[in-house]
Parts: sequence; C-alpha cells; structure tokens
Amino acid sequence: MNDSSSYDVIIIGAGASGLMCALQCARRKKRVLLLEKEHQAGRKILVSGNGRCNLTNAYVSASDYRGAPELAEAVLKYFSFQNCLDFFHALGVLTVQEGQGRIFPRTGKSTAVAEALRLACAEAGVELKTDSEAVKVEKKKLFRVKLQTGETFVSKYLVLACGSKAYPQVGGTESGYRLASALGHHLVPPTPALVALNVREKAVARLQGVRAQVRATVWPGTHRVLQNEGEVLFTAYGLSGPAVLNLSGPIGKALPEGPVPLTLDFFPEIANKEEFLKERVACFPSRTAKEFFAGLLHENIANLLIDFTGLKKALPVAAWTENTRKTVSKTLGAWPFTVTALRPWTEAMAAAGGVNCAEINYNTLESLRCPGLYILGELLNVDGRSGGFNLHFAWGCGYTAARAMPEE
Ligand SMILES: Cc1cc2nc3c(=O)[nH]c(=O)nc-3n(C[C@H](O)[C@H](O)[C@H](O)COP(=O)(O)OP(=O)(O)OC[C@H]3O[C@@H](n4cnc5c(N)ncnc54)[C@H](O)[C@@H]3O)c2cc1C
Repeated sequence: MNDSSSYDVIIIGAGASGLMCALQCARRKKRVLLLEKEHQAGRKILVSGNGRCNLTNAYVSASDYRGAPELAEAVLKYFSFQNCLDFFHALGVLTVQEGQGRIFPRTGKSTAVAEALRLACAEAGVELKTDSEAVKVEKKKLFRVKLQTGETFVSKYLVLACGSKAYPQVGGTESGYRLASALGHHLVPPTPALVALNVREKAVARLQGVRAQVRATVWPGTHRVLQNEGEVLFTAYGLSGPAVLNLSGPIGKALPEGPVPLTLDFFPEIANKEEFLKERVACFPSRTAKEFFAGLLHENIANLLIDFTGLKKALPVAAWTENTRKTVSKTLGAWPFTVTALRPWTEAMAAAGGVNCAEINYNTLESLRCPGLYILGELLNVDGRSGGFNLHFAWGCGYTAARAMPEE
C-alpha cells in the first residue's frame, strides 16, 4: 500500500453528512478521502426542498425526530440551529426564514448550499473522488475500502455517510446498510418515510391537485393515535402534503398488520363544528348546499362532501335537520380514509429505520461494535419531520463525528 492510497479518514458518501464531516475533518488537519458513487457530490441536497433546499429549521428540537430522538438530542447539543446558521453564513451562504421556521438559501436555489460545501471542502484539502462506489469494507489494523473499480484505500478512521434507500434517482441505495452490516451492525428494517399515501377511497381522485389546511389523525396500531396539522395535497391515488407526509413513517410500520384508518379535520381551529354550522345556516338560510359551502371549502371538496353525505342539492340549508347538520359537521371534522400502502421508495424523501442506534455512541457517533467507525445521517435509525429537520440532522452528524475524532 503506497502513501497515496492511505488516509487518516475515508468517508463513504458525499451527501449532506459526508460533505460536512469531510470539511470538518480536513479543517482539523486530517487527510481526508471522500468517496461518492454518483458523478457529482450532494445530489440529494440539490433536489431537496423542491430545488430550494430547506436546510434547517429555527425551531429544531429532539421532538422533531423519530427512531432514536435521544441521539438527535445529543447531536443538537453539538450542532444547534444557531451553529447551523453561523456555519452556512461563514461559508458565504445568505439565508432567509419562511413559515414554520424553515430556512432556505437567499438565492432560492439549493445549488448555493451544495456548491458552498463543495468549494469549502476543496479549499480545506478534501480529496473528493466521484464515480467511486465503495463495494467492500473491512477492518484489520486499519480500515480497507475497496471500490467497484478494484482500487483499494486504507485509513485509520472510516465514516459511513451513505444515506438511505430513499429516492434512488439521486443516489438512494441499500449500499450503506450492507457496509454497516459487514462491520457488525444490525438494522431496524428501513421503510419509506416522508412519503405520500395510497388510500382505498377511489373518490379521492376527484380532488386531485386540491390543497387544504387540515389536522390529520391516524391510528397506526391499537391504542395509538397520532396527529399532525398542516397542508394536505390530494392526488389521483391518495394523500400527500406535509400534514400526512409527517405521519407516513409510523403508518409504514403499522401497514404490515393491515390498512390504517386516517381522518382529516378540515377545520381544526373550530372546536364546535355543529354550532358553527348552525350559526352559518342562520346567516344564509336560503342558500343551497353548494352556495352555503362557497367561501368555506374548495369547490371540489364541497361537491364531494355533498355527494358523500347525500345532501339534497336543491334544498335550502334552512331545511337541514339536526341529523343532517350533525352528519356534515362530523364529516368535516373527521373525513374518513383508509391507507392501504405507502408510495414507493422512488417517491420517499427519507427512510424510517436504519442502523440500530443502540450500537452507536450518541456523543461521538462512533460505532460501539467497531472502534474507529462512525455512522452518520439518514443511514441511522433517526428520521425527522418535513421542514429542514433531516438536513439539520445530517449536517449535525457530520459535525459531531469530526469533532469527536482524536486529533492527529
Ligand atoms: C426529494 C427530496 C427532498 C428533500 N428535501 C429536504 C429538505 O428540503 N429539507 C430537509 O431537511 N431534508 C430534505 N430531504 C432529506 C435530506 O435530503 C436527507 O435526509 C439528507 O440528504 C440525508 O443526508 P445523508 O448525508 O445521510 O445522505 P445523502 O445526502 O443521501 O448522501 C449519501 C451519499 O452517499 C452516496 N453513497 C451511498 N452509498 C455509497 C457507496 N457505497 N459508495 C460511494 N458513495 C455512496 C450517495 O450517492 C449519496 O450521495 C429531501 C430528500 C429528498 C429525496
């Protein structure tokens, strides 16, 4: 083995966590090789946030994560929201804050983030090798990494920053799970997360493209209720949008036991919907149902509601019986759906499951099974809500591991 193939650290995966880790290691005077199987680093960063990259969130906390939130909490201790903002500002990336604390680059393009990281890595001396898939890893005295090309590199420390199976179009792969398993790790079976839902009710197609602010409630298993408020987007096959994407992880875990019931409350801010309807009927007694819902509901939702509840179209709402009002208010508050499946990995923005975090030192992200190995980001059994939390976790992991590696 000659000097040119020997490094202090080899990082497999030049995504969010790998780029951050590489930069921080190089700044700490380590000789770093960053391997990327795609032709370009950070492809997932580029597609994130609809090409705008929601890079962090002003309100990030451990409660925004599932899987092992305690590990996320440890990472947030070393890399807080303010640390994240300071870090990107120091890289020259100006940012803006939008609704619900979501932070984007001011340019409105994710290239600002990916390019800033790539440039900073190059300036710090990171050796980035693209089109280089690591296919085999082993540890003797040193780590030995073999590429698909047959080339072999060795290092003192090895970092797995391979991400998850989600979105294979931009690099999502099982590779990290295989490499981690080869070094003695176990997996919590990965399932798609932040992914849209197929529902049994075919009539949903009538709402395709309609958006609404709702509270979604699901029952993923007996005695378990989860709720989330936000925007729902109706599609030809079912439901999408942040309100339901954030519930897809637990739904995916429950689906092997059978379809999962879900309801949408179209007016979460109105506690007594029946009373509200009664008052509205008093204001507009001569209106037909369709006219009555104008200004209250999207036209397509109103039409479906009329059909679903069997309202008589020509009847003035003043003629509604108490039972009719009850049915309408109940449907508006808990419109029932049945989730039959998650959309596939090609549409998933993240993965639930991954490397079992009980096998990881929370403060350093070093493996408890293989000293000198660090495992980061989405490869771990930690998944965040939609809103910048997954990228924050990935940056934070890269920062935490680099900080924890012994000085040269
Ligand atoms: C469409 C979409 C939109 C998203 N939008 C947002 C958003 O706005 N905000 C947010 O917080 N999160 C968002 N996410 C999630 C976020 O992008 C990921 O959580 C984050 O990128 C994970 O970082 P990571 O470093 O763990 O993995 P990745 O960023 O996926 O990086 C892993 C890298 O490793 C490479 N790799 C894998 N195996 C090997 C191997 N064997 N050899 C060499 N290279 C390998 C891959 O090609 C990849 O480049 C989005 C995800 C998707 C798919």
